[in-house]
Amino acid sequence: MDHDPQDGSVLRADLIDCDLHPAVPATSVLVRYLDSYWREMNSVRALDRLNLALTSYPQNAPLACRPDWAISGEKPGASLNAMQAHVLAPFKTRFGILNCLHGAQAMHSEDMAAVFCRAVNMWVRDEWLARDARLRASIVIPAQNPEMAVDEIERCATDRRFVQVLMLLMGETTLGRRHLWPIYRTAERLGLPVGIHAGSAYRFAPTSAGWPSYFLEDYVAQSAGFENQLQSLISEGVFAKFPDLKVVLIESGLTWLSGFIWRADKTWRGVRVEVPWVTRQPSEIIRQHVRLTVQPIDAADGAEALQRLVDHVGSDELFLFSSDYPHWQFDGHEALPSGLPATLARKIGTDNPLATYGRLAETIEEEAAA
Ligand code: ZN
Repeated sequence: MDHDPQDGSVLRADLIDCDLHPAVPATSVLVRYLDSYWREMNSVRALDRLNLALTSYPQNAPLACRPDWAISGEKPGASLNAMQAHVLAPFKTRFGILNCLHGAQAMHSEDMAAVFCRAVNMWVRDEWLARDARLRASIVIPAQNPEMAVDEIERCATDRRFVQVLMLLMGETTLGRRHLWPIYRTAERLGLPVGIHAGSAYRFAPTSAGWPSYFLEDYVAQSAGFENQLQSLISEGVFAKFPDLKVVLIESGLTWLSGFIWRADKTWRGVRVEVPWVTRQPSEIIRQHVRLTVQPIDAADGAEALQRLVDHVGSDELFLFSSDYPHWQFDGHEALPSGLPATLARKIGTDNPLATYGRLAETIEEEAAA
């Protein structure tokens, strides 16, 4: 893939991909990270025969992958070689952040969730981070139990290749709720953004109107889920309590943001007396604390839509490059629309991710100083 430095679609050697999906090929690869009790449970309870994948992203369905990058007989995203050939090399990726979506994030048993989140993080470390120096990862946490989630964040964060805490969009509660604050406190203290990825643990219907019949309805409804959770984080006062916290909405779509900001600001002006800790307009809070990955871009005129959004939001610092590899929705090698002004493309591709992920910026600085 050639690139043209005059064109906004320029793909540079310092591109940072903020949403890559490695898939656990089978539960058997996690067994070596389980203690003797859980190894026994793995066979006694036949966990090893289960896929343990999140059903909001049906990994075994051929449709869950772009057909041009599907590998016959393999789960999409299960091969590092394929990820290298399909995206890391062609995009000339400097850093790629792995967001492993796994059923552990949705398990009802807190103990089982904690054990499998830990196993997933160790598997990612050994099979991905150790094998490609460009890769970084998000920490998969059992948000079902904030105390266990904090333990897992602290355990992984000693390895600086873990650059973010990963939460599922729709879990057991709205994300601003105070019992989850230990997670945000820990993330802020360790300089880790909290990434919220599309998907549901299906404790509740993924639409606010009831259970849908089709994946089509489920996927389209995700952007409404992001609106709900963003409003919850703002209203409950998460950003007032944790002034250095950054939240990254991953695979959220983008175009809902302009309407949301208008509605959130206007309503806040009318009834802000009930949330006295929200002392600034929601749009201001979003500009300071919230970032969004770009793929899949939910607009036909991608470049124009992004520029309009920058105008509406009043900032060009909110959007982060992502490929969303290997999901079928993403735009393949056109992940960043052509026609973007080069300055905006550079902000989305490199500057904004570096400003968001402190650990990446540190690595760049260390390398420059060496
Ligand atoms: Zn994604």
